[in-house]
Amino acid sequence: MVKICCIGAGYVGGPTMAVIALKCPNIQVAVVDISTARINAWNSDTLPIYEPGLDEVVKKCRGKNLSFSTDVEKHVAESDIVFVSVNTPTKTQGLGAGKAADLTYWESAARMIADVAKSNKIVVEKSTVPVKTAEAIEKILTHNSKGINFSILSNPEFLAEGTAISDLLNPDRVLIGGRETPEGKKAIEALRDVYAHWVPVDRILCTNLWSAELSKLAANAFLAQRISSVNAMSALCEATGADVSQVAHAVGKDTRIGPKFLNASVGFGGSCFQKDILNLVYICECNGLPEVATYWKQVIKVNDYQKTRFVNRIVSSMFNTVSGKKIAVLGFAFKKDTGDTRETPAIDKIFNDMQKPAFVFDGRNVVDAEKLRKIGFIVYSIGKPLDDWLKDMPAVA
Ligand code: NAD
Repeated sequence: MVKICCIGAGYVGGPTMAVIALKCPNIQVAVVDISTARINAWNSDTLPIYEPGLDEVVKKCRGKNLSFSTDVEKHVAESDIVFVSVNTPTKTQGLGAGKAADLTYWESAARMIADVAKSNKIVVEKSTVPVKTAEAIEKILTHNSKGINFSILSNPEFLAEGTAISDLLNPDRVLIGGRETPEGKKAIEALRDVYAHWVPVDRILCTNLWSAELSKLAANAFLAQRISSVNAMSALCEATGADVSQVAHAVGKDTRIGPKFLNASVGFGGSCFQKDILNLVYICECNGLPEVATYWKQVIKVNDYQKTRFVNRIVSSMFNTVSGKKIAVLGFAFKKDTGDTRETPAIDKIFNDMQKPAFVFDGRNVVDAEKLRKIGFIVYSIGKPLDDWLKDMPAVA
């Protein structure tokens, strides 16, 4: 029986391994983490993360071919394939601070694998890492390998939080990068066999290591770039009387462009887009490509501009000061799946209790602005024709 171990029981490691366990009953899957609290939660009835469908998958497999443990070294030593899905945040200090990915957790995981391994292993980069990380990891693993053979693969994860289980069950593609050597090809095949239990083989893309590593950063940069593009248009819509939803609809009907990721909003959030683009910018700079770095940096600048613009709109509408005023934030999560306020009856209740004039600033264009206006609210919706009040109180960027 093939044994898989995944280091890092987070938003990626937990759901990904649960789906592998579900689809591959002949594979033993252990998810390990240094955080006792996280592992305890994975072993309880209240999982540490919420994803639609995750509970059912975990309940089906836990105790059969899926386990969660803090005994990291034991499970790594026993496994044939080790996924590393630890966090790779933006560095806060030292060389590349504020941009480069912090690979501290990755490095310590790699050193531990090298220390405890007693048999050949395939080590899979599941975390999002800078292109060329596999080269450094290989050096760490082979430096102390006692004759053990390590094959490194890059298998970046494209799931989106909120739809992780359906993304994993039915992925647009699975990407596997490896060395173009006989050992590298064998390792690619071994991992492809795992995914082939449920993913059609034409959706399993095999590339060299660097293409796989870079593709993840490129995909997130392209997705974020679409958000910043439509958000930049939303500012122009407000200035001209155009409606950003109508513009996005018309633009997205072009099959070369497509309709997805064209919703104007208060900007992208979450743990990945900003971190990965900053990382991409840093890699471009390090490779002597300042023009390319500047191009991608602009995606983040527009995102920051959109957030600032939204806040300025709030402050200027309320007579340029919010001191002493109470502001309620509805929908604090970064995804509509968890922060949807449509049709909530609470909004009418709220109006009666509010000081007048009462405002709603909709950063995701999810509330029914017309209904709210009928109740008496002044409503600001990003990229939409402005209420008279807002026209009289122009926001300063
Ligand atoms: P996370 O912070 O939720 O989980 C990482 C886990 O790794 C933590 O529980 C931490 O305790 C554990 N860990 C760190 N060092 C360890 C070590 N040495 N040994 C054992 N456990 C260790 O992170 P995440 O959201 O799952 O992201 C993981 C990686 O996947 C990141 O590189 C991220 O960029 C990437 N990614 C994330 C998403 C997403 O939607 N969250 C999607 C695709 C890719």
